[in-house]
Amino acid sequence: MSARGNLFIVSAPSGAGKSSLIAALLANKPADKQVSVSHTTRQPRPGEVNGQHYHYVSVEEFKALIAEEAFFEWAEVFGNFYGTSRKVIEETLERGIDVFLDIDWQGAQQVKKLMPEAIGIFILPPSREELERRLTGRGQDSSEVIASRMAQAVSEMSHYKEYDFIIVNDDFETALGDLSAIIRSQRLTRASQINTHNDMLKGLLAD
Ligand code: GDP
Ligand code: ADP
Ligand code: 5GP
Repeated sequence: MSARGNLFIVSAPSGAGKSSLIAALLANKPADKQVSVSHTTRQPRPGEVNGQHYHYVSVEEFKALIAEEAFFEWAEVFGNFYGTSRKVIEETLERGIDVFLDIDWQGAQQVKKLMPEAIGIFILPPSREELERRLTGRGQDSSEVIASRMAQAVSEMSHYKEYDFIIVNDDFETALGDLSAIIRSQRLTRASQINTHNDMLKGLLAD
Protein backbone atom coordinates (compact mmCIF):
# COMPACT_ATOMS: atom_id res chain seq x y z
CA MET A 1 0.00 0.00 0.00
CA SER A 2 1.38 3.42 -0.87
CA ALA A 3 1.74 5.98 1.91
CA ARG A 4 -0.76 8.79 2.33
CA GLY A 5 0.25 11.96 0.50
CA ASN A 6 1.62 14.99 2.33
CA LEU A 7 -0.29 18.25 2.57
CA PHE A 8 1.79 21.36 1.82
CA ILE A 9 0.56 24.85 2.61
CA VAL A 10 2.28 27.50 0.51
CA SER A 11 1.74 31.14 1.50
CA ALA A 12 3.37 34.42 0.52
CA PRO A 13 2.49 38.05 0.06
CA SER A 14 0.74 38.54 -3.28
CA GLY A 15 3.37 38.78 -6.03
CA ALA A 16 6.14 36.88 -4.21
CA GLY A 17 5.90 34.10 -6.81
CA LYS A 18 4.04 31.24 -5.15
CA SER A 19 1.74 30.54 -8.10
CA SER A 20 4.73 30.56 -10.50
CA LEU A 21 6.73 28.24 -8.24
CA ILE A 22 3.87 25.76 -7.82
CA ALA A 23 3.16 25.88 -11.58
CA ALA A 24 6.84 25.17 -12.35
CA LEU A 25 6.89 22.31 -9.86
CA LEU A 26 3.90 20.69 -11.59
CA ALA A 27 4.85 21.64 -15.15
CA ASN A 28 5.71 18.10 -16.26
CA LYS A 29 2.57 16.73 -14.59
CA PRO A 30 4.13 14.51 -11.90
CA ALA A 31 1.74 11.72 -10.93
CA ASP A 32 2.48 12.15 -7.22
CA LYS A 33 1.79 15.89 -6.85
CA GLN A 34 -1.30 18.03 -7.35
CA VAL A 35 -2.33 21.61 -6.59
CA SER A 36 -5.69 22.19 -4.96
CA VAL A 37 -7.93 24.41 -7.09
CA SER A 38 -9.71 26.85 -4.76
CA HIS A 39 -13.14 28.38 -5.12
CA THR A 40 -13.13 32.18 -5.28
CA THR A 41 -15.58 35.03 -5.71
CA ARG A 42 -12.85 37.18 -7.37
CA GLN A 43 -13.24 37.92 -11.08
CA PRO A 44 -10.99 35.83 -13.36
CA ARG A 45 -7.85 37.64 -14.55
CA PRO A 46 -7.16 37.70 -18.29
CA GLY A 47 -6.00 34.22 -19.26
CA GLU A 48 -7.27 32.50 -16.11
CA VAL A 49 -9.35 29.41 -16.82
CA ASN A 50 -12.34 28.28 -14.74
CA GLY A 51 -11.55 24.94 -13.09
CA GLN A 52 -7.82 25.32 -13.70
CA HIS A 53 -6.75 28.42 -11.75
CA TYR A 54 -9.86 28.65 -9.61
CA HIS A 55 -13.50 27.62 -9.56
CA TYR A 56 -15.14 31.02 -10.00
CA VAL A 57 -18.41 31.33 -8.09
CA SER A 58 -20.80 34.08 -6.98
CA VAL A 59 -20.96 35.25 -3.36
CA GLU A 60 -24.33 33.43 -3.05
CA GLU A 61 -22.85 30.17 -4.34
CA PHE A 62 -19.86 30.54 -2.02
CA LYS A 63 -22.12 31.07 1.00
CA ALA A 64 -24.16 27.99 0.06
CA LEU A 65 -20.94 25.95 -0.06
CA ILE A 66 -19.99 27.25 3.43
CA ALA A 67 -23.42 26.16 4.71
CA GLU A 68 -22.93 22.69 3.18
CA GLU A 69 -19.55 22.47 4.98
CA ALA A 70 -17.92 21.87 1.62
CA PHE A 71 -14.79 23.80 2.63
CA PHE A 72 -11.80 22.46 4.49
CA GLU A 73 -10.96 26.11 5.17
CA TRP A 74 -12.08 29.43 3.75
CA ALA A 75 -11.14 33.08 4.24
CA GLU A 76 -11.85 36.58 3.00
CA VAL A 77 -8.72 37.96 1.31
CA PHE A 78 -8.55 41.42 -0.31
CA GLY A 79 -12.35 41.68 -0.17
CA ASN A 80 -13.01 38.37 -1.98
CA PHE A 81 -13.84 34.94 -0.59
CA TYR A 82 -11.48 32.01 -1.16
CA GLY A 83 -11.95 28.41 -0.05
CA THR A 84 -10.45 24.92 -0.32
CA SER A 85 -12.69 21.96 -1.12
CA ARG A 86 -12.69 19.36 1.66
CA LYS A 87 -13.59 16.35 -0.48
CA VAL A 88 -10.88 16.81 -3.11
CA ILE A 89 -8.13 17.20 -0.49
CA GLU A 90 -9.13 14.09 1.45
CA GLU A 91 -9.53 11.89 -1.63
CA THR A 92 -6.25 13.02 -3.18
CA LEU A 93 -4.19 12.49 0.00
CA GLU A 94 -5.76 9.04 0.41
CA ARG A 95 -4.50 8.12 -3.07
CA GLY A 96 -0.93 8.84 -1.92
CA ILE A 97 -0.66 12.12 -3.85
CA ASP A 98 0.98 15.23 -2.31
CA VAL A 99 -1.39 18.20 -2.32
CA PHE A 100 -0.34 21.88 -2.49
CA LEU A 101 -2.55 24.58 -1.05
CA ASP A 102 -1.82 28.11 -2.35
CA ILE A 103 -3.63 29.85 0.49
CA ASP A 104 -3.24 32.87 2.73
CA TRP A 105 -2.12 32.85 6.39
CA GLN A 106 -5.69 32.77 7.73
CA GLY A 107 -6.37 29.60 5.79
CA ALA A 108 -2.98 28.20 6.83
CA GLN A 109 -3.87 28.61 10.52
CA GLN A 110 -7.16 26.76 10.01
CA VAL A 111 -5.45 23.90 8.15
CA LYS A 112 -2.72 23.54 10.79
CA LYS A 113 -5.41 23.20 13.46
CA LEU A 114 -7.32 20.56 11.50
CA MET A 115 -4.24 18.72 10.25
CA PRO A 116 -1.15 19.48 12.39
CA GLU A 117 1.00 17.25 10.16
CA ALA A 118 0.49 19.65 7.23
CA ILE A 119 3.78 21.27 6.20
CA GLY A 120 3.84 25.07 5.98
CA ILE A 121 6.11 26.82 3.48
CA PHE A 122 6.36 30.62 3.34
CA ILE A 123 7.75 32.36 0.25
CA LEU A 124 9.44 35.73 0.77
CA PRO A 125 10.47 38.20 -1.93
CA PRO A 126 14.07 39.48 -1.69
CA SER A 127 12.91 43.08 -1.02
CA ARG A 128 9.82 45.30 -0.94
CA GLU A 129 10.95 47.04 -4.14
CA GLU A 130 11.19 43.71 -5.97
CA LEU A 131 7.74 42.68 -4.69
CA GLU A 132 6.22 45.85 -6.10
CA ARG A 133 8.07 45.33 -9.41
CA ARG A 134 6.64 41.80 -9.70
CA LEU A 135 3.09 42.85 -8.83
CA THR A 136 3.27 45.62 -11.41
CA GLY A 137 5.15 43.46 -13.93
CA ARG A 138 2.53 40.71 -13.80
CA GLY A 139 0.33 43.35 -15.42
CA GLN A 140 -2.93 41.71 -14.45
CA ASP A 141 -4.23 43.85 -11.62
CA SER A 142 -5.34 47.51 -11.64
CA SER A 143 -3.11 50.09 -9.93
CA GLU A 144 -5.67 50.31 -7.07
CA VAL A 145 -5.53 46.53 -6.55
CA ILE A 146 -1.70 46.59 -6.64
CA ALA A 147 -1.58 49.46 -4.12
CA SER A 148 -3.93 47.61 -1.77
CA ARG A 149 -1.94 44.34 -2.07
CA MET A 150 1.33 46.19 -1.42
CA ALA A 151 -0.23 47.85 1.62
CA GLN A 152 -1.17 44.42 2.99
CA ALA A 153 2.15 42.77 2.13
CA VAL A 154 3.92 43.73 5.35
CA SER A 155 1.17 42.41 7.60
CA GLU A 156 1.01 39.19 5.53
CA MET A 157 4.77 38.73 5.69
CA SER A 158 4.70 39.14 9.49
CA HIS A 159 3.16 35.63 9.61
CA TYR A 160 6.29 33.92 8.26
CA LYS A 161 7.09 32.63 11.78
CA GLU A 162 4.04 30.34 11.71
CA TYR A 163 5.53 28.19 8.90
CA ASP A 164 7.92 25.23 9.01
CA PHE A 165 10.04 26.31 6.02
CA ILE A 166 10.98 29.63 4.44
CA ILE A 167 12.05 30.13 0.83
CA VAL A 168 13.48 33.42 -0.44
CA ASN A 169 12.38 33.73 -4.06
CA ASP A 170 15.24 35.83 -5.42
CA ASP A 171 16.66 33.64 -8.19
CA PHE A 172 13.67 31.62 -9.46
CA GLU A 173 15.54 28.38 -10.25
CA THR A 174 17.21 28.38 -6.82
CA ALA A 175 13.84 28.89 -5.13
CA LEU A 176 12.33 26.07 -7.22
CA GLY A 177 15.20 23.78 -6.18
CA ASP A 178 14.58 24.68 -2.54
CA LEU A 179 10.89 23.88 -2.88
CA SER A 180 11.67 20.48 -4.49
CA ALA A 181 14.15 19.70 -1.70
CA ILE A 182 11.54 20.35 1.01
CA ILE A 183 9.01 18.11 -0.73
CA ARG A 184 11.51 15.31 -1.26
CA SER A 185 12.69 15.47 2.35
CA GLN A 186 9.13 14.84 3.54
CA ARG A 187 9.02 11.60 1.52
CA LEU A 188 12.18 10.48 3.32
CA THR A 189 11.09 10.86 6.94
CA ARG A 190 11.11 7.64 8.98
CA ALA A 191 7.31 7.53 9.18
CA SER A 192 6.93 7.98 5.44
CA GLN A 193 9.66 5.44 4.56
CA ILE A 194 8.19 2.82 6.93
CA ASN A 195 4.89 3.17 5.10
CA THR A 196 6.39 3.04 1.64
CA HIS A 197 8.84 0.20 2.29
CA ASN A 198 6.88 -1.88 4.76
CA ASP A 199 7.36 -5.19 2.90
CA MET A 200 11.02 -4.54 2.15
CA LEU A 201 11.70 -3.81 5.83
CA LYS A 202 9.94 -7.04 6.86
CA GLY A 203 12.13 -8.97 4.40
CA LEU A 204 15.31 -7.29 5.59
CA LEU A 205 14.61 -7.96 9.25
CA ALA A 206 13.09 -11.47 9.00
CA ASP A 207 14.75 -14.21 11.07
P1 GDP B 1 -2.01 35.86 -5.72
O1 GDP B 1 -1.62 36.64 -4.54
O2 GDP B 1 -1.53 36.37 -7.01
O3 GDP B 1 -1.86 34.39 -5.56
O4 GDP B 1 -3.57 36.19 -5.81
P2 GDP B 1 -4.89 35.32 -5.71
O5 GDP B 1 -6.02 36.23 -6.02
O6 GDP B 1 -4.75 34.09 -6.52
O7 GDP B 1 -5.04 34.91 -4.19
C1 GDP B 1 -5.42 35.88 -3.18
C2 GDP B 1 -5.15 35.38 -1.77
O8 GDP B 1 -6.04 34.37 -1.45
C3 GDP B 1 -3.77 34.77 -1.55
O9 GDP B 1 -3.29 35.16 -0.30
C4 GDP B 1 -4.01 33.30 -1.60
O10 GDP B 1 -3.03 32.57 -0.92
C5 GDP B 1 -5.35 33.26 -0.97
N1 GDP B 1 -6.07 32.08 -1.34
C6 GDP B 1 -6.24 31.51 -2.53
N2 GDP B 1 -6.97 30.41 -2.45
C7 GDP B 1 -7.27 30.27 -1.16
C8 GDP B 1 -8.03 29.29 -0.43
O11 GDP B 1 -8.58 28.32 -0.95
N3 GDP B 1 -8.14 29.48 0.88
C9 GDP B 1 -7.57 30.52 1.51
N4 GDP B 1 -7.73 30.61 2.80
N5 GDP B 1 -6.87 31.45 0.87
C10 GDP B 1 -6.72 31.34 -0.45
P1 ADP C 1 1.92 35.08 -6.39
O1 ADP C 1 1.24 33.84 -6.86
O2 ADP C 1 2.71 34.89 -5.15
O3 ADP C 1 1.03 36.27 -6.30
P2 ADP C 1 3.20 35.07 -9.05
O4 ADP C 1 3.67 33.66 -9.15
O5 ADP C 1 1.99 35.48 -9.83
O6 ADP C 1 3.03 35.48 -7.50
O7 ADP C 1 4.45 36.01 -9.40
C1 ADP C 1 4.31 37.42 -9.52
C2 ADP C 1 5.13 37.90 -10.73
O8 ADP C 1 6.53 37.79 -10.41
C3 ADP C 1 4.90 37.09 -11.98
O9 ADP C 1 4.88 37.99 -13.09
C4 ADP C 1 6.12 36.16 -12.04
O10 ADP C 1 6.45 35.83 -13.37
C5 ADP C 1 7.21 37.01 -11.39
N1 ADP C 1 8.24 36.24 -10.65
C6 ADP C 1 8.06 35.17 -9.83
N2 ADP C 1 9.23 34.74 -9.30
C7 ADP C 1 10.20 35.56 -9.79
C8 ADP C 1 11.65 35.64 -9.63
N3 ADP C 1 12.33 34.80 -8.84
N4 ADP C 1 12.30 36.61 -10.29
C9 ADP C 1 11.62 37.48 -11.08
N5 ADP C 1 10.29 37.46 -11.29
C10 ADP C 1 9.57 36.53 -10.66
P1 5GP D 1 -5.20 36.05 -6.17
O1 5GP D 1 -6.49 36.79 -6.10
O2 5GP D 1 -4.05 36.92 -6.49
O3 5GP D 1 -5.31 34.83 -7.06
O4 5GP D 1 -4.94 35.45 -4.70
C1 5GP D 1 -4.80 36.29 -3.59
C2 5GP D 1 -4.52 35.50 -2.36
O5 5GP D 1 -5.56 34.56 -2.03
C3 5GP D 1 -3.27 34.70 -2.48
O6 5GP D 1 -2.46 35.02 -1.36
C4 5GP D 1 -3.76 33.27 -2.41
O7 5GP D 1 -2.81 32.44 -1.79
C5 5GP D 1 -5.03 33.37 -1.59
N1 5GP D 1 -5.88 32.25 -1.81
C6 5GP D 1 -6.17 31.68 -2.97
N2 5GP D 1 -6.99 30.63 -2.79
C7 5GP D 1 -7.23 30.54 -1.46
C8 5GP D 1 -8.00 29.64 -0.67
O8 5GP D 1 -8.64 28.70 -1.13
N3 5GP D 1 -7.99 29.85 0.65
C9 5GP D 1 -7.29 30.87 1.22
N4 5GP D 1 -7.34 30.98 2.52
N5 5GP D 1 -6.57 31.72 0.51
C10 5GP D 1 -6.52 31.57 -0.83
